[in-house]
Amino acid sequence: MKDTALFIRSSGASRYKFNDEHPFNPLRLELAGSLLETAGALSPDMVLEAHSAQDIELERIHRADYMDAVLKLSVRAPHPDSLALAARYGLTTEDTPYFEGMHEAAAAISGGSILAAETVMSGRALHAYHMGGGLHHAFPGHGSGFCVYNDAAVAIAAVKDKYKARILYIDTDVHHGDGVQYAFYEDPDVFTYSIHETGKYLFPGTGFTHEKGIDKGYGACCNIPLQPYTEDESWLEAFSESITRVARAFKPDLIVSQHGCDAHAFDPLSHIHCSMRIYLEMPRIIHELAHEHCGGRWVALGGGGYDLWKVVPRAWSLVWMAMSDHEISSRLAAAPSSPAPLPEQWLSRWQPLSPEPLPEHWLDPLDIWEPMPRREEIRLQNRAAWELAVQDL
Ligand SMILES: [Zn+2]
Ligand SMILES: [Zn+2]
Repeated sequence: MKDTALFIRSSGASRYKFNDEHPFNPLRLELAGSLLETAGALSPDMVLEAHSAQDIELERIHRADYMDAVLKLSVRAPHPDSLALAARYGLTTEDTPYFEGMHEAAAAISGGSILAAETVMSGRALHAYHMGGGLHHAFPGHGSGFCVYNDAAVAIAAVKDKYKARILYIDTDVHHGDGVQYAFYEDPDVFTYSIHETGKYLFPGTGFTHEKGIDKGYGACCNIPLQPYTEDESWLEAFSESITRVARAFKPDLIVSQHGCDAHAFDPLSHIHCSMRIYLEMPRIIHELAHEHCGGRWVALGGGGYDLWKVVPRAWSLVWMAMSDHEISSRLAAAPSSPAPLPEQWLSRWQPLSPEPLPEHWLDPLDIWEPMPRREEIRLQNRAAWELAVQDL
């Protein structure tokens, strides 16, 4: 099959917004989309518009009582009786407060991820990218960590039975992909892999190497917890060494990857200290694995990422450029130290709105970055972690 990629848009994703102070800001999608367009990497013929997920699709993962609570809390002024539900279902916290239109926006995001999975499994395209997806912390019966419905789990569930597919889920967000892991913890046909900052220091406090699944699902789960202040080289070693072994051992029919880009040094919510280099290399590694192990079938989703000006647009553009074999991705990979400028048109459009100076290049100027103290110690600790995590594969 021709190596094709489609870009999935769910217009409702732009309304997934808790409040003006909340770090999760859908403006990220517009900034990244605009960067791809001005770079000449995204044209209208590559885009598919998604419908919202139906209740029956969400119910494959989410409990009916939870969905009912979400619906009741999605109106402008919820009934006082409904407010009690908010606390019970994790929707009153500072992280994940209920908001007007919450059900519709979250269902739209799940619809985009379902369409991405269906596009690939039906053979309409080999790869699909839904940048608005990746809400990996939502659980069947409660919201958590900015996530109301777990679109990644919903999309996996949608195609798993229909196509009798074995699915490898790869979560590269700096936070452990707990919601997706636990949704398929007993399932031998969905392998959940997550590389993240160790739960010792970071939300959600899980994702240790001993979490490997239960019952029939034992062995279909792998966690790589990394030390705070991990840098590019150690991150890339841990990722490529472990995911290569996982893919070889599991032999998936489909890869679904989550591309939270909050492991970047600029991200305000974590302590991992990577540069744009991992966001260049990592989707290229996944792309290669997809062609090597599952006939190219690959779905990529967005995720976290809270430096919406300096990190997210570049990182998420690089996922699409790897997926669509855009020349910028291969050029950067071939010569990472020769400066490649961002499109002038993008900078001049967004700089006036950005609170900080925008980066001028695709990759970060590592020659002026201070190396982290304890670099070697961190590298050895991370190596011990990934070796332990994959020792049975
Ligand atoms: Zn390809
Ligand atoms: Zn995250």
